[in-house]
Amino acid sequence: MSEVVPCASVRIHGAAGEVTGSCYEVTTAHAHLLIDFGMFQGAPEQEMRNTRPPEIDFSTLDAVLVTHAHIDHCGRLGMLPGLGFTGPVLVTEPTAELLPRVLTSSATLQQVRIQENRAGTAPSSRVLAPPELASAIPIRREPPPILFTHRHAERVSRSLRAIPFMEWESIAQGVEMRFLHASHVIGAASIELRVQRNDGMEPAHLLFSGDVGPIENPLLAPHQWSDQAPDLLVMESTNGARRFPQVDQYAALAEILKEAKAKNQRVLAPVFALGRAQTILQLLARASRDGILHGMPVYLDSAMAVRASELYARHPSLLEPSLHAACMRGTNPLHFPELHTLMSRRESESIDRIKTACVIMAGSGFCDAGPILRHVRLAIDQEDTRILFTGHQLDGLLGHGLLHGATRVEINGAALDVKAKIDRIAGISGHGDADDLLAWVKRMPGSPKTIALVHGSVEARNEFASILRQHVSSEVTLPNLGETLRVM
Ligand SMILES: [Zn+2]
Repeated sequence: MSEVVPCASVRIHGAAGEVTGSCYEVTTAHAHLLIDFGMFQGAPEQEMRNTRPPEIDFSTLDAVLVTHAHIDHCGRLGMLPGLGFTGPVLVTEPTAELLPRVLTSSATLQQVRIQENRAGTAPSSRVLAPPELASAIPIRREPPPILFTHRHAERVSRSLRAIPFMEWESIAQGVEMRFLHASHVIGAASIELRVQRNDGMEPAHLLFSGDVGPIENPLLAPHQWSDQAPDLLVMESTNGARRFPQVDQYAALAEILKEAKAKNQRVLAPVFALGRAQTILQLLARASRDGILHGMPVYLDSAMAVRASELYARHPSLLEPSLHAACMRGTNPLHFPELHTLMSRRESESIDRIKTACVIMAGSGFCDAGPILRHVRLAIDQEDTRILFTGHQLDGLLGHGLLHGATRVEINGAALDVKAKIDRIAGISGHGDADDLLAWVKRMPGSPKTIALVHGSVEARNEFASILRQHVSSEVTLPNLGETLRVM
C-alpha cells in the first residue's frame, strides 16, 4: 500500500506554549516557506534561544512571509542573510514601511546593550520592598550576543516585497497567498495560503492568524475574513484565558487627566511604540477635543512611536471608520495641539526638569528600560507624579512590581521610595480577549478542520482550547516545539 503524502506540512519552530518566537515552516510538494521569524523575549535564557536558529535549510526557502512588525514576529529577520536566505520577504504595505526602521533599530540596540554592559551603564531595575515582591528579580541583565548587523538589516530591507491586502499572489509553484487585515496594529495581517493538490481536487487552505486584534477595535478597521474555512488554522491564543473587564477607558483616562491637571501632576505612561502608543494617542486626541487637556502638554518620547503614528494616518482605509472619515477631512486623528514629539535623547532630556502637569509617553512598555526608566527614576519618589499602566506587565519586571504595590525600588543603582501614584486602565490591548478570539473563529464561513493553538502561555492555550471545543467542531491541537502538522 502506498503511503499517503501530505499536501502541506507545517513545522512549529517557536511560540509553542509561549507568547514569543513565532516561526512556522511550510513545506509542500514544490514549495518551502517560512511564516514569521520572531524573537524569543523575556528572561535572559529566552533571549539566548534567539542565537540558535531553527534547523531549516534557509537556502531552499522560496519566500519568508511576515504577519506584522512586532519583534516577536519579525525580530530575527535580520539573521536571514547570514543563514543563506536570498529570496523575497513578503509583507503588507505598512509593514514594508515599518520593518527597515524596526530592524535597523534592533541592530543598534544589540550593539548598545553590549557597550552598556561593558561600561557598566546597562539599565537596571528591581523592587526592594515589600519583601514578597522583591524576590528573584534580576538586577542587571547580561546582553545576548549580537544576532545581526546593520548591513544584514539593510539587506533584508531591500528584499521586502509589499503585497496589498486581500489580493491573491502566486509565490511559489502551486502556492498562492494573501494577507487579511487582522485589526491588531497598522499593517498586521493574517496569512492565507492556497495550496494545489496533485489529484486535481480543491486546493488546501491554510490560515495563520498572526496576532488577532479585538473585534471592536477603537483604532483600526474591522478584520477581513476568508470566504472559506481553512483546512488548518494556526492561531494565536495570547489572551485565551482572559476576559477584559468592561471599562470605559476614555472616562477612566479623562478622570486621571483632570485630577493630574488640578493637582499639577506629571503622568508617566510606559508604552510600546507600535500599537499601545497609538491607542493612547487616540484617547488623548479625544481628550484634547473635549478641552480636558487644554494647557497640559503631552510628550511622545519615542522616535519609533512617532514614525509608527504617522503611518496610521498614511493608511486611512485601515483605520476605524470615524478615524478614516477624519483623515478624509484632512485631519490626522492621532494628532492634537498639545502633542509634542521628542525624537532624540537630547530632546528627551530637555523635559527632565518639567514640574508642571503633563503627560509623558515613552518606552519600554514594561517600564524596565528606555527613556521611561529615566523619567520614572527622576520622579517616582515625588508625590506630584503618577505612573499610568495600560497594558499587561511581565512578572519579574519593574512595571509588574509597581502595579502590585512596590513601596521601594532600585533603578540604575539608586534606591527610591515609591511616592508616585500608580494608575491602571484595564482592557487596552491590541490583542482580542477570549471572547474576541472565539468570535473571530466563529465569523468564518465554517469550522476549520483543525485548529492548532500557538502564541499563548500553557494556561492560556489550554483554557482557549477548552472554549473552542465547546463552540466549534474543529479538531483542536496544541503543538509542541518542533512538531509537524500535516494537511492531507
Ligand atoms: Zn503583535
